[in-house]
Amino acid sequence: MSEFDLIRTHFARLGPSRDDVTLGVGDDCALLRVPAGCELAVSIDTLVAGVHFLPEVNPEALGHKALAVSLSDLAAMGAEPAWATLALTLPADLPSTRPDWVDAFCRGLDALALEQGVALVGGDTTSGPLAVSIQVHGFVPQGQAVRRQGAGPGDLVCVSGTLGDAGLALRAILSGLEPPEGLRARLERPTPRVAAGLALRGQASAMIDCSDGLAADLGHILEASGVGADLSLADLPLSPDVARAVAATGDWALPLASGDDYELCFTLPAQSRGGLPELARTAGCPLAVIGRIREGRGLRCWLPDGREFHLGRTGYDHFAA
Ligand code: ADP
Ligand code: MG
Repeated sequence: MSEFDLIRTHFARLGPSRDDVTLGVGDDCALLRVPAGCELAVSIDTLVAGVHFLPEVNPEALGHKALAVSLSDLAAMGAEPAWATLALTLPADLPSTRPDWVDAFCRGLDALALEQGVALVGGDTTSGPLAVSIQVHGFVPQGQAVRRQGAGPGDLVCVSGTLGDAGLALRAILSGLEPPEGLRARLERPTPRVAAGLALRGQASAMIDCSDGLAADLGHILEASGVGADLSLADLPLSPDVARAVAATGDWALPLASGDDYELCFTLPAQSRGGLPELARTAGCPLAVIGRIREGRGLRCWLPDGREFHLGRTGYDHFAA
């Protein structure tokens, strides 16, 4: 199958058709219309075989995850997803040795694209070591994007969903065990918190998505905002599996520093606390208060017994020595 057959067969029509796409896949560029009064939010993420996923991963799950991790960045700005482009690098023999692979990859991508209203409008197809880059484009009313800067002393530190599930699933897989299905899904098919991001626009003072680990990602909010924070570990939202693992080992690094959660971490003025249940309903996922912003610098984590917990490595860093 030639490059052009691949493109025509698989990538010509993924996601919904949208009125704001003048021209999608097929020409040298896509032609797109941004609504008046909106800024375009753009983000790209790359997943590399052997680094971000195991080469033998289910291709349908990979298609889902590649789009999900990029949409998570739009969510973290409070942007509404619109378009995506896909740069796909495939081993030269893959389309012939595993003819269903690209099909399954596209199925996973298409299902999430349809669910989130994102049209695939272009891309690039090359041969080489397996890697996937997806760039997403979304809209946010002028000046209303929620940034990493903006957290102020007294603000509540909050997080969506639960933390550490993907890390626990990966740990099981790497030690040759089969994680429970629900945990595996949290690793392989993360839910981008797009609805939560939109609900928090105009509410959150700062926001980020947790891709590298809560401590590291919250650290970016603290640095950008020039503040510090106290976290109450007893208040971290944990699934029963992670709660059991933490209770058994005391390993708080699992919810604090394992990556791939794709939950939103955000700060909220203290007077907004009463509105959280309503916000969570609009967001379609639980939202928990886990700490407070304070003056100063740095993150302090407090154990349920009142002692301070010192975290070693805070999150994943591709270039850490
Ligand atoms: P060019 O050589 O002009 O860059 P290509 O031959 O790479 O164009 O691509 C032809 C068309 O197919 C373009 O519209 C491009 O955006 C689209 N395309 C190529 N690969 C992909 C892909 N993996 N997903 C979506 N669209 C793709
Ligand atoms: Mg061209």
